[in-house]
Amino acid sequence: MTFCCEMMRDKVEAKCDQHADSFDCPDCLIYHDPDPRDERYVLIIHDGGSSYIAIRYCPWCGTSLPGDVDDEDDTTA
Ligand SMILES: [Zn+2]
Ligand SMILES: [Zn+2]
Repeated sequence: MTFCCEMMRDKVEAKCDQHADSFDCPDCLIYHDPDPRDERYVLIIHDGGSSYIAIRYCPWCGTSLPGDVDDEDDTTA
């Protein structure tokens, strides 16, 4: 698994002893869904549920991330 930057790796790979699920842990900011058909990075919203915002660019280094890129139409080249 490669990450765009150390910060991203740090956040995605952060493991907590007290919360098996990243969504339950207030210290977990980023969740990475590695599903090859639907890979994406999301920002966890700690509202007590499982809300999140899909992020398209790394908040730390600005690298564009895998995921839905429906506003990119460079496939016509
Ligand atoms: Zn990054
Ligand atoms: Zn925790």
